[in-house]
Amino acid sequence: MLRAIGQSSATIMNSRNLCSKASSRLQGKVAVVTASTDGIGYAIAERLGQEGAKVVVSSRKEQNVAKAVDKLSKAGLDVAGIKCHVANAADRKALFEKAVQKYGGIDILVSNAAVNPEVGAVLDASEAAWDKIFEVNVKCSFLLAKEALPYIRQRKGGSIVFVSSIAGFQPFSLLGAYSVSKTALFGLTKAASQDLASENIRVNCVAPGIVKTRFSAALHESEGAQEAALSTIPMKRFAEPKEIAGVCAFLVSNDASYITGETIIASGGMPSRL
Ligand code: NAP
Repeated sequence: MLRAIGQSSATIMNSRNLCSKASSRLQGKVAVVTASTDGIGYAIAERLGQEGAKVVVSSRKEQNVAKAVDKLSKAGLDVAGIKCHVANAADRKALFEKAVQKYGGIDILVSNAAVNPEVGAVLDASEAAWDKIFEVNVKCSFLLAKEALPYIRQRKGGSIVFVSSIAGFQPFSLLGAYSVSKTALFGLTKAASQDLASENIRVNCVAPGIVKTRFSAALHESEGAQEAALSTIPMKRFAEPKEIAGVCAFLVSNDASYITGETIIASGGMPSRL
């Protein structure tokens, strides 16, 4: 339905309740999005689907996957789902095999999963928390890209996006180790993009500011926390997941065909870099 209309263009309501056109610039593409049954990942899966891609959604819990697939399918999008904890090698293998078996290949990988098991300054982090953060946020992003690469190469080109954070540029004092893990993704983006540029495989990164999701609940649940967080954002509001999804859709589309190794910041003006 929506996708069929999307062959030309479809009218959707965006997060700011403005009418916008979803293009069909991802028609014929197959996208794998990790951690995509809620929050930013779900919004990315939805947006890529609205732009014509066939999308494989995944997360740790079967029931969340089933719910997301049901919702996206009912919206007329071409999606499949599979359980995938990104730190589980068998799950990652099954994820890519699902995409190939169901849709015939992989053009786009969005690596979106991250954890933050502890709150505190970087040098107060426990070794266990540091290991977990670096395993899921950095090592699994690397492994997902490495394992998706042979499939993307078969398509003679494609696109990888890592979801980082504004905290990777300007560390959040209470998210010390997490912030460092997000900085590492900028390096991974740069290194992989240079290696793959001549193969027509682009590697980019999105660095969201504070987005209203379960992950950031501590920053917007109570009035006091919300006020403190909003005082750090020049636009004086949190982002909606759809506002990050739009950036990601741009990066994986042909509109970004000459962009690789870059990070786009969507932070409502929060300080980042020159
Ligand atoms: P979220 O709303 O809490 O959504 C988390 C999603 O990830 C759920 O679908 C969850 O489903 C899945 N998930 C969690 N751990 C997983 C794992 N190990 N393997 C696979 N799936 C997993 O989180 P979010 O705010 O959208 O965050 C998404 C990304 O954006 C993260 O990389 C985060 O660092 C980044 N980010 C967020 C913000 C923010 O303010 N929210 C700001 C900057 C960057 P299951 O429970 O079923 O696994």
